[in-house]
Amino acid sequence: PIRTRFAPSPTGLLHIGGVRTALFSWAYARKHGGQFVLRIEDTDLERSTPESVAAILDGMHWVGLDYDEGPFYQMQRMARYKEVIGQLLAGGHAYHCYCSKEELEAMRAEAEARGEKPRYDRRWRPEPGKALPPMPADVSPVVRFRTPLDGTVAWDDQVKGRIEIANEELDDLIIARPDGTPTYNFCVVVDDWDMNISHVIRGDDHVNNTPRQIHLYQALGAEVPLFAHLPMIHNDQGQKLSKRRDAVSVVDYDKMGILPEALLNYLARLGWGHGDDEFFSLTQFVAWFDLAAVSPSPSRFDRDKLLWLNAQHIKAADPARLAQRVAGFLADRGVDIAVGPALAPVCALLKDRSQTLLEMADQAEYFYRALVPTAEIVDKHLGPDDEARLGFFAEGAARLPEWSAEALAAYIKEFVKQQGVKMPQVGMPLRAKVCGTTSTPSVDAVLALLGREEVLRRLAA
Ligand code: GLU
Repeated sequence: PIRTRFAPSPTGLLHIGGVRTALFSWAYARKHGGQFVLRIEDTDLERSTPESVAAILDGMHWVGLDYDEGPFYQMQRMARYKEVIGQLLAGGHAYHCYCSKEELEAMRAEAEARGEKPRYDRRWRPEPGKALPPMPADVSPVVRFRTPLDGTVAWDDQVKGRIEIANEELDDLIIARPDGTPTYNFCVVVDDWDMNISHVIRGDDHVNNTPRQIHLYQALGAEVPLFAHLPMIHNDQGQKLSKRRDAVSVVDYDKMGILPEALLNYLARLGWGHGDDEFFSLTQFVAWFDLAAVSPSPSRFDRDKLLWLNAQHIKAADPARLAQRVAGFLADRGVDIAVGPALAPVCALLKDRSQTLLEMADQAEYFYRALVPTAEIVDKHLGPDDEARLGFFAEGAARLPEWSAEALAAYIKEFVKQQGVKMPQVGMPLRAKVCGTTSTPSVDAVLALLGREEVLRRLAA
């Protein structure tokens, strides 16, 4: 069975690089009828925070990637890791190393003096006929993994192709610290093994860990999963995305008024493609997704493309759903939507003219309170002639037998003819006076939604 996982470390907000990893892992499981597991890698006690765990869970909920199992927490699995360390020690796959900090420091300095990569000289690694150093009294040992000395370790990366590493490049990895706590690479392997993960899909910043992890699987007699390492996401300067420099967390996109399906659509296209298709749904993505089509080179984050996709998804979305989020943005700026038309039809009217929900909220505002037109707008569209004409317009509007977009369109057309002017000479002043801005959808639709009473009130103001 296909089983994938997303295994974030809770050391910050949910990052879009993480969301893309989660998306690809999730889609792979969904496409193959498998399961997707969420695991929180919280063993780094100094950097992990409960706030970050909450941000990850909220972020996963916001993007709508559902998991079949979890969240599992590594901190709750300590007993299991210790048990497996005991097994490796008992089986001769691991050993205690009593080197002091000073000894390790000396080894490093010597290697550097020789111009070599610093490495542990395996002095505590037991070998037949080898005498181990005298046991120091005051050193708590670490546990090291007995990495094979010769040969190579290789895997067929599902994205990068075959990767092969000479074992002599690898140190005897520390799997438990002096206080007995297990280290990162070791926990990941025990978890992926216990959780029956078939495909490890993760960022390619973990490529260097993979050979070490494969050795651990083999020593444990566990089946080695398949690995797929996804390329990093760079910003428009070609730098790795950074929390300090770039908008990277799911919360940032939520605040910008991005729809989760647009963010996922955008992230799906980062480093993966399906012909010329740009705008697609999550269902289509699942049907099309294939690890073989993931590009092995880094992708560049393109904000304009995200905004373009967001506009497409806004057009396709149910206005009632848009209204829920737009209501939040309006409330943030103190706009009371109870005093105006229902928000869903307003969103339906603005759907084709908003790249973000924040922009939609900007435009929705005049439905709930008249904006003050700028001096430039007054100058251009609200001169004495315009005001006089709007007065006549209001008189006719008050007597209309029906208040609908169609009735208003007919009335405006008639009025324009009767005044002997062009459409914009009525349309622009009307927008300026009623809405406080000239950039609005079709004026008949706006007036219809605002309602007769409010329109007449604003025209009289
Ligand atoms: N916890 C690791 C990270 O946040 C991921 C480990 C993995 O996927 O194997 O980068």
